[in-house]
Amino acid sequence: MRVTVIGCSGSFPGPDSPASSYLVEADGFSLLLDMGNGAVGSLQRFHDVLDIDAICFSHLHPDHCLDLTVYWIARTYCPDGPAPRIPVYGPSGTAEHMIKAYQLEPNPAMASTFEFRTLEPGPIRIGPFTVSTALVNHPVEAYGLRVEHGGKVLTYSGDTGVCEALVELARDCDLFLCEAGFEQRDDLPPDMHLTGREAGEHAARAGAGTLVLTHLLPWNDPAQTLAEAKASGFGGPIELAEVGTVYDL
Ligand SMILES: [Zn+2]
Ligand SMILES: [Zn+2]
Repeated sequence: MRVTVIGCSGSFPGPDSPASSYLVEADGFSLLLDMGNGAVGSLQRFHDVLDIDAICFSHLHPDHCLDLTVYWIARTYCPDGPAPRIPVYGPSGTAEHMIKAYQLEPNPAMASTFEFRTLEPGPIRIGPFTVSTALVNHPVEAYGLRVEHGGKVLTYSGDTGVCEALVELARDCDLFLCEAGFEQRDDLPPDMHLTGREAGEHAARAGAGTLVLTHLLPWNDPAQTLAEAKASGFGGPIELAEVGTVYDL
């Protein structure tokens, strides 16, 4: 399983990164986790933009899904003819959300390009991957994702506050892409995002392998987020997500 960071900026794109998007590949199958603002541009630096076999959204905040609207153009109106229809997994209402964002009529809308499938907690098969999902603590229907292939495990937090289900999703994973959207302060709202320290605490409790801090907001100091995580007690390697970094599991 190969994981490539396509975008890791939190809540809005930064000068060096689009919003959230991660490419997961195995056995010639390409799965995109999230497609935040700017992801379609960044994807073209690392991969054939049309060679995507499935897309899975953690939740429907724009920094995780909105580039699907422009990706619809890329797949539908390609000069070589439309690209094959692919499944798009997401929370309830994903199709309606995307159709409205593009101001399309409900029929045929995006139906010839994307087959929308609704996520529910539990395991599903996407290509060669087993993808287990669980609801996490965020103000909307939001999922954490555990992707397994060939005995290796990637866990992606999506957006979440402190969350017991995330610890279980990350249990003994090899790579833990965990959001750290907040810097430590006394007045942080609950059930929104994690600090670096909280990301490290989740990784420690899960027995995760490598922790990669992601969903890094442009106005935060990544060095502080990293320092907070390193002070969490997690004993494994900790890195900051960067566009273009590849993890071979
Ligand atoms: Zn977000
Ligand atoms: Zn969110």
